[in-house]
Amino acid sequence: MSLPKDLYVGFTGSPLDRAEPVRHDPEALRALATDPAALLLEMPDYLPPTENCALAWAPFTPLPAEETLLLGLIDNIPRFARIDPQAVAAKRWAELMTLLDSLSPGEAGIYAAARSVLDWHARHRFCANCGAKTAPHHAGWARLCPACGTEHYPRTDPVVIMLAEYEGRVLVGRQAAFAPGRYSALAGFVEVGESIEEAVARELHEEAGVVATSVRYIASQPWPFPSQLMVACIATVADDAITLDLTELEDAKWVERAEVEAALRGDEDAVFGAPPRYAIANSLFNAWLAGR
Ligand SMILES: [Zn+2]
Repeated sequence: MSLPKDLYVGFTGSPLDRAEPVRHDPEALRALATDPAALLLEMPDYLPPTENCALAWAPFTPLPAEETLLLGLIDNIPRFARIDPQAVAAKRWAELMTLLDSLSPGEAGIYAAARSVLDWHARHRFCANCGAKTAPHHAGWARLCPACGTEHYPRTDPVVIMLAEYEGRVLVGRQAAFAPGRYSALAGFVEVGESIEEAVARELHEEAGVVATSVRYIASQPWPFPSQLMVACIATVADDAITLDLTELEDAKWVERAEVEAALRGDEDAVFGAPPRYAIANSLFNAWLAGR
């Protein structure tokens, strides 16, 4: 496994030891839950509690099994979160973005794992097989249906995010919902029966009418809103003619190296506003500038 250590990728590098065997060992789980040093990540509204640019942990006291999520261990200290099926994410996106900006990628990675699993519990309370009510299982890393015995696991949905590249320029696009001036890499969900490369080529063609001739993988990132795996790629394309799908994008344009550099610096006269640092689109621009 090679991690892109020279590339900043938000939500990666979590220090969590996920202690997977403990999920299947009730005695070992009880020992961790009654460890006086155990800590709790309390996330009312799914906002990360922070202090001095790090996650703020609270003392942990054992919870009922159906509320217990064992995140894992950090420095051999057990870390838990509380499952609340009634939880609803606060619609305070700007506040969340500011909190994420204050965290290191690894600390944000702990938050990403916790948020995705807690949110999955809240949205998957019933069995997809028979419709009965399910309950948390395996220390919060699964749900079990008491009626038909099916185990359900948190899912991750792959999304490709890519820069098309043509003769020293890259293609950026903006959705109508973006902040004014913001442009980013194009992106879309990988469909059933597709490879990553095929999804990149299809999305580029659907959204911007460009034809990929080669696709190279750069890096990936868990994205906890609610549970995507972002797969970042750069694709060389056959020419620079754009045919925009206006149902997906409001605009798309080719930008040069100096224009990307200015956007990443946040220059006031930059021709576009770059995505935030913890978004892999930002890492993708940096990877392209570094010649990956
Ligand atoms: Zn069932």
